Amino acid sequence: MNVIVIGAGVLGSSIAYRVAQGGAQVTVLEATRVGGGTSGVSFAWTNANNKPPRAYHDLNVAGMRAHAALKDEFGATPWFHQSGSLEWRVSPAEVAAQAEKVARLRDWGYAAEFIDKRRLQELEPEIAVDAVADDAQIVFCPEEGWVDPVLYAGAMLRAARQRYGAVVKSGVRVTGLETRGGRVVGARDAAGEVHHADLVINCTGRWSNETVRDTAPNVPLAPTIGFLVFTPPVGIDLRRPFHAPDLDVRPDGAGRLMIRKDSLDDRFAALQSRTPDCEEARLALASATELLPSLAGAEVEAVRTTVRPIPADGLTTVGPTRGVDGYYVAVTHSGVTLSPALGHLVADEVLRGRERPELESFRPSRFQA
Ligand SMILES: Cc1cc2nc3c(=O)[nH]c(=O)nc-3n(C[C@H](O)[C@H](O)[C@H](O)COP(=O)(O)OP(=O)(O)OC[C@H]3O[C@@H](n4cnc5c(N)ncnc54)[C@H](O)[C@@H]3O)c2cc1C
Repeated sequence: MNVIVIGAGVLGSSIAYRVAQGGAQVTVLEATRVGGGTSGVSFAWTNANNKPPRAYHDLNVAGMRAHAALKDEFGATPWFHQSGSLEWRVSPAEVAAQAEKVARLRDWGYAAEFIDKRRLQELEPEIAVDAVADDAQIVFCPEEGWVDPVLYAGAMLRAARQRYGAVVKSGVRVTGLETRGGRVVGARDAAGEVHHADLVINCTGRWSNETVRDTAPNVPLAPTIGFLVFTPPVGIDLRRPFHAPDLDVRPDGAGRLMIRKDSLDDRFAALQSRTPDCEEARLALASATELLPSLAGAEVEAVRTTVRPIPADGLTTVGPTRGVDGYYVAVTHSGVTLSPALGHLVADEVLRGRERPELESFRPSRFQA
């Protein structure tokens, strides 16, 4: 079976790896570079922390477990940091919502524990606990973590190539599907070349619809803008992501920190570039410095703005589309968490013809009239 995977983000790379492993001849067509889309600009927190309904929660838990399981398969997974993560809330409304969430998570068997400020300090000595309100409600989720998404995608594709003979073509932009007798038989690129396949899997995230243009039904998307701020290497020993009110911070390798503030995303009505000296970057760094005083004197090194690939109802969309044989689409937010699990599930469906019950609630057909 010849399979084309369009897009080499975390999702396309995971699916390409598992489909190649299952015996298909896989070709990955990527318009720019591996991880050059949303995957390269992601907070990349692996979690099922607030992902109702239950089916979506379970899918995210499967993603977390699949990330951890890669260690057995690859020996070392330097892109995956299962560090746990911290979250605290202060306002009465947020505290109540967090308590309700933790009760639900525990009910669903998810590891989430309340801790005090002393334990917070033990876990993260660099955090100024005096800057955390005394009545803050703090939660530690030990099974969460974060991923270097581009390293992860690169590792999946390298393994797909070296172990299973997959072909990865960067700089090939797909402009539509090639159909014959109502069946998809390949993908056409911007140079007019047709890449033939028995099955085309569209993993182009926020570009999913423009990739296939009018040759396959659209997945309605409700994208939002994400704004990320990066420090230079600062030598701060932050060990795991933390989520304070309107502030998320995590290590980003080589001593850099990644910072985001939900409220700043709202300032972007559309995708606009910013420079490291912009007002939004200054605000993000100032918030982080209140909790990590060792950041004092650091300047913002980089800022990145991108679009989240979110299907209109917020949930993953994976599967064939009704009326278009030979075509399969996978587009989702939380893709960093979900990718390794979706790789297994999609490979099972497309190679062995099984309909995986885990994906039942997430079919593209829910959007098709
Ligand atoms: C600010 C922010 C924070 C996030 N935080 C988290 C988080 O904490 N945890 C989590 O799990 N998820 C998070 N996400 C979501 C996650 O990053 C995405 O769900 C995931 O990266 C999507 O991966 P993908 O492979 O589907 O898409 P992408 O990474 O966008 O990959 C699509 C690829 O397709 C290529 N492409 C596009 N058009 C074409 C074409 N016509 N022909 C060929 N190739 C094409 C692109 O170049 C790109 O490489 C976050 C996202 C953002 C923006």
